[in-house]
Amino acid sequence: PLPTVRVVDLRHETSYPLSTPLLAELGRLAEGGGKAILLLNRRGVAPALHCRACGATRRCPNCDVAFTLHGDGTLRCHHCGAREPAGETCPACGSPELARIGAGTQRLERELEKHVPELERIRLDADAVANPEQLRDALERFARAERAVLVGTQMVAKGHHFPGVELAAVVDADTGLGLPDFRAEERTFQLLTQLAGRSGRDAPGRVLVQTFQPESRAVEHAARHDVAGFLAGELERRRALGYPPFRHLVRVLVSGPELADATRALEELKAGLPDFVLLGPAPLLRLRGRHRAQLVGKTDRPRALASRAAALLAAAAPAMRRAGLTAVVDVDPQSV
Ligand SMILES: [Zn+2]
Ligand SMILES: [Zn+2]
Repeated sequence: PLPTVRVVDLRHETSYPLSTPLLAELGRLAEGGGKAILLLNRRGVAPALHCRACGATRRCPNCDVAFTLHGDGTLRCHHCGAREPAGETCPACGSPELARIGAGTQRLERELEKHVPELERIRLDADAVANPEQLRDALERFARAERAVLVGTQMVAKGHHFPGVELAAVVDADTGLGLPDFRAEERTFQLLTQLAGRSGRDAPGRVLVQTFQPESRAVEHAARHDVAGFLAGELERRRALGYPPFRHLVRVLVSGPELADATRALEELKAGLPDFVLLGPAPLLRLRGRHRAQLVGKTDRPRALASRAAALLAAAAPAMRRAGLTAVVDVDPQSV
């Protein structure tokens, strides 16, 4: 039988990242012995803005992806470039309690040390486990331990066996939902089902999901183990918005030392492609010191769009080189 899933509504909780129900479960393990896995649903670091009162994440009205919060206090859509001021209150409910979501593994470790010091803490993320030996060590320590908690990012849920685990908890289901990516819901659903869908000796006794958005499709369907229902709804959403598999995405990403140059190059490119639907240019978060901007096309003819774009970029290559710009054209990129 699949484990029961308890959804903890963080809007009614006073403590984060360890809610009262999660602390109670951990306290039981600290007293009686047993093991837990705590999963942080973190992929990338794009910060999203989130209402603590009603649970709404600010999303782009054009693209249905989460806005990304930029350092200047604006919310920007990484698909189409739309921007809105972050503001002081939630537009959905008027509450002033806005929060950036996401807690790192280190903060979670500190909280565990403070509240349940009896449990051995084993961290499993890219920082703590840099090579296969360290990974094997961490997994062996966890397998041998009598009372321990494994804290990790999505690599915890993937591919490893964790027999004898009493409790598996997703600390922040919403950080996945807050990513500026149209596949964010699918990824969150996969993570939740990877924990809740384990069976046999690998099945955790209980699964607990902490979320500001208990009514989100990913959380709701995962809690009911309803894979078919989730996929049907997800396909409908993608059809309505023109996302794959119904239409293809072509992304042109330009990076360089100056954002204005990257944006101008993409505007010129867009002007040369009048018969395609193109969103943007939209600025992205800087990566390794380089400014980035992208243009996204939704099309039935991805090859035609990609080759036209490549030809125009080749013609513009000398000017782009002078400005230190590089361009990449992607058809149906894995994340947008
Ligand atoms: Zn609100
Ligand atoms: Zn948008």
